[in-house]
Amino acid sequence: MYDYLIVGSGLYGATFAQRAKADGKSVLVIDKRPNIAGNVYTEKIEGINVHKFGAHIFHTNNKEVWDYVNRFATFNRFTNTPIANYKGEIYSLPFNMFTFNKMWGVKTADEAKKIIDEQRAEIKGTPKNLEQQAISLVGREIYEKLIKGYTEKQWGRDCKDLPPFIIKRLPVRLTYDNNYFNALFQGIPVGGYTKMVENMLKGIEVKLNTDYFSDKENFDKMAKRVIYTGPIDAYFDYKLGTLQYRSVRFENEILDIPNFQGNAAVNYTDRETPYTRIIEHKWFEFGKDEMGNDIKKTVISKEYSSEWKPGDEPYYPVNDEANEKLYNDYKKLAEKEKNVVFGGRLGEYKYYDMDRVIEAAFDAYEKEKQ
Ligand code: FAD
Ligand code: UDP
Repeated sequence: MYDYLIVGSGLYGATFAQRAKADGKSVLVIDKRPNIAGNVYTEKIEGINVHKFGAHIFHTNNKEVWDYVNRFATFNRFTNTPIANYKGEIYSLPFNMFTFNKMWGVKTADEAKKIIDEQRAEIKGTPKNLEQQAISLVGREIYEKLIKGYTEKQWGRDCKDLPPFIIKRLPVRLTYDNNYFNALFQGIPVGGYTKMVENMLKGIEVKLNTDYFSDKENFDKMAKRVIYTGPIDAYFDYKLGTLQYRSVRFENEILDIPNFQGNAAVNYTDRETPYTRIIEHKWFEFGKDEMGNDIKKTVISKEYSSEWKPGDEPYYPVNDEANEKLYNDYKKLAEKEKNVVFGGRLGEYKYYDMDRVIEAAFDAYEKEKQ
């Protein structure tokens, strides 16, 4: 009998497994996918580490988490500086002085602030939805060119029907600093995330292509405790209804040219372009292979967002009011499952970044010791 059965080899499962194993616990990790690492999985194509389930940039303010991941990988100096393409006009992201200069020709923070203040005056009181929040942060013009179309494609919902917190993820700066994240530490694991997760799972038994629900009863008998990182509603066979998720589809292309867009990420912020962004993976590692040579070809991924339906891969929880309510009902059921911990982005139905997932797994493991 194992101490822990861990359902899911994503960052939550891998972190929990690593901690438990280091404490001498016996652990079995299962994953229904043919590969480890969940959504941070990378695969080498034409010498390039391709982020198969979407671009992943590691960033954190938590020194403990940063030190932890650095035990399993060397991180490069990549800083995320995506750009927006609005009908052929190029803008710097996140919203910073380069953006305001291109939009309005302003050069100083005071000039930019004056325009934003004029435009945000239309919002009175606390913003109640994403549209109001966005206008109150950067004004109507930037909302309409850089936020509205992208957000409605990404979430398949009107900006008035989305919660304000989603847009608060992005910094607004009155400086010429185009680092997408407010984080002390940032980078990409050299050689890809899959290698990092492999190192985390070293010496741990992992069974791939194994769906927990194909034989739940037997799996439950195999361990004293279960750590479940799949969707919480799936665990309960959707008996209270299905939570909504957004799914993402990637169209990957190998191009026989060295440079397609000159940046890792370009967001298409108009409504008409069907995809939300194009990722050119080689730029996460500066276009070089392990020997420091320039890679001749390039791999790009167009990212299309869609509503999740059973059978699709769930990516983003939709944290609006109705879903939050349903999640809370599932959570009450989860609390009654005394031997099961529900963790991670799908198990907790939270829009977690990687560092937060690792933190959450640390906390869950600490609780096990109490
Ligand atoms: P997952 O990685 O989803 O792992 C869950 C695992 O459980 C999966 O492998 C799944 O196959 C397995 N599983 C589910 N059900 C079962 C079952 N029944 N039986 C067996 N196995 C099962 N975060 C950042 O910090 N920076 C970024 O730049 C960033 N970019 C992102 C881009 C996209 C497109 C997306 C969708 C997310 C991004 N994130 C980013 C968030 C990041 O992906 C997550 O925080 C993290 O991967 C979540 O880890 P997890 O272990 O909770 O979930
Ligand atoms: N967003 C936007 N325009 C952009 C990039 C992001 O309006 O060019 C909005 C969009 O609503 C998105 C949110 O900001 O869902 C958070 O963006 P982030 O890049 O953090 O999303 P993720 O990388 O998690 O998809």
